[in-house]
Amino acid sequence: MLDKLYLRGFKSFAEPVTVDFSDSRITTIVGPNGSGKSNIVDAIRWVMGEQSPSALRGSRMSDVIFSGTDERQARSEAEVRIVLNNEFGRLDIDEDQVTLSRLVDQEGRSDYYINGEASRLRDFQELLDDTGLNQEPYSVVGQNRVEAILGSSPEKLRGMFEEAAGISRHRRRKEEAERRLERTEQDLTRVEDLINELK
Ligand code: ATP
Repeated sequence: MLDKLYLRGFKSFAEPVTVDFSDSRITTIVGPNGSGKSNIVDAIRWVMGEQSPSALRGSRMSDVIFSGTDERQARSEAEVRIVLNNEFGRLDIDEDQVTLSRLVDQEGRSDYYINGEASRLRDFQELLDDTGLNQEPYSVVGQNRVEAILGSSPEKLRGMFEEAAGISRHRRRKEEAERRLERTEQDLTRVEDLINELK
């Protein structure tokens, strides 16, 4: 499903780099320690909407911006783009390829784009819901994650199965509807109180 990854100013990738995953079923990235292999995994996680700097091994969101070396100046923003193959229509968008982009500035503010159109984080989450690629993706399994998944609580495991089975979107919508219903009921009670006072 992942066709291409483009990075610019993201972590150790000061210059624009494109990684093409589309030619083979398995892509292996090799390199010495500290050469940026995990940064590629971080980029995939980040572009899909990761909000926690610590999940990206930083303390602030702007830490993902290339911070400079002796030879290269620091960058003022970072950008990651991911091209997803949608030939089988897993993403609810009528295109064979979907490009998600995220940019971050030095204040840590992010901008999101779907196929070049300015979007919200929520649009990303809705699009990726039930594809297994959303907020806590099990499709991106970093070091130590396998053990963490195996040791997860039954609730957490159930959440992962629900995501894979494509029902978590409906569960989230149901919860949202229940919250709205509760708010409406409270409003109604308040209106009834007011009517009683006016009687
Ligand atoms: P290992 O095999 O040891 O896990 P790795 O290839 O996975 O290594 P990464 O953890 O991806 O390596 O990359 C770490 C490198 O990225 C470090 O050299 C670090 O200085 C650099 N790096 C991380 N964040 C930034 C940043 N914001 N600006 C510049 N360089 C950065």
